[in-house]
Amino acid sequence: MIDEQKYLKTWKHEGTILFADFGAKVSDKVAGFDMDSTLITTKSGLMLAKDSSDWVWWDENVPKKLSEIHENGFKIVIFSNKAGVEMGRIDPIDLQQKFTQIYESLKVPFQIICATSKDANHKPSIGMWKYFVSNCNDGIEPDKSQSFYCGDSAGRPKRKDKNKDFSYCDRQFAMNLGVQFYTPEMYFQELEEILPPLEFDTNTLKSLEGQSPTEEEEKYTSEAQEVVVFVGAPGSGKSTFWKNYLKDYVRVNNEILKTKQKCIEAARKILKEGKSCVIDNTNPKIEARSDYISIAEEFKVPCRAFYFNTDKNICMHNNEQRSINPNRNHLSKKTPRLIINVFFKNCVVPTQSEGFTEVKVINFIPGPFESDDDKETYYTY
Ligand SMILES: [Mg+2]
Repeated sequence: MIDEQKYLKTWKHEGTILFADFGAKVSDKVAGFDMDSTLITTKSGLMLAKDSSDWVWWDENVPKKLSEIHENGFKIVIFSNKAGVEMGRIDPIDLQQKFTQIYESLKVPFQIICATSKDANHKPSIGMWKYFVSNCNDGIEPDKSQSFYCGDSAGRPKRKDKNKDFSYCDRQFAMNLGVQFYTPEMYFQELEEILPPLEFDTNTLKSLEGQSPTEEEEKYTSEAQEVVVFVGAPGSGKSTFWKNYLKDYVRVNNEILKTKQKCIEAARKILKEGKSCVIDNTNPKIEARSDYISIAEEFKVPCRAFYFNTDKNICMHNNEQRSINPNRNHLSKKTPRLIINVFFKNCVVPTQSEGFTEVKVINFIPGPFESDDDKETYYTY
């Protein structure tokens, strides 16, 4: 009989971190593992475990390999995304019982850290690792050159008998940490795998830093009064661009004003006062933009379109930042991913033939950052 009561006491719930230590000793060599479909899988064959005993080792080599790596002086730490806890789909007590059973079966010490919400602790963000370094290793900084992380979400396409990976969050997590990454096939079955390039990674984003948003460095404001219509997906960098370069222009925004009619009235009022305005909405369609062109004509001022040519993956990334990065005052709230997908489906790239005096293509450049923490959170999501 497993004495579950004994182990249940070892669990700590701090914020959105759930942590337990099954006797693991301090080490600067960390062997990090994902849990589901990496160390274990369901006995029932269901995607989600029925209860705490619905598990088997992912591969018969798992216990042996874990024992070996422990003997070699590594500290085994499981980093598991468990946002289902916050959503009410996973009972934390069930989870705790499951790990007790895993430990009883394995008899190898390990630590387990779960992220119970989709916040900065959720992989690929590195919150769980930071928690580990500050609270779970007696202040000993892990040696990243010797440590590694193994998980099944690696962005792999459909293979012979296996489905496409759900995501690449494990691979990105290892990349964000700067440690060697293995899939369970590589680590436990010693298979060679060639991983496809990631469709998005933050290193590509980093390489854009310091570049100019347009072909040539220029001034984006105009001496004369005008209307600027932004065209770009949520997360494409529109509002930040306004803040960085067009701050003297009055910003008209649907999220604040709620209706198109109110945006139109606001634009009229601004022009009447002799000021320039920016229509900081997504404006994917010609019809949505034509109203603003008409208003500019009415006031006999030029109307320019700024088209935010930002890759969809970058928009998704920026959108996520609105909920996980508390370092910055985000001008908009996080939007459902679907809204971004719909924008890309519907967007008609603006042209001068619609009546714009000029169409400027704006490329996305990361930053400026509020602090080092802001920057780190931005690139390690
Ligand atoms: Mg997994």
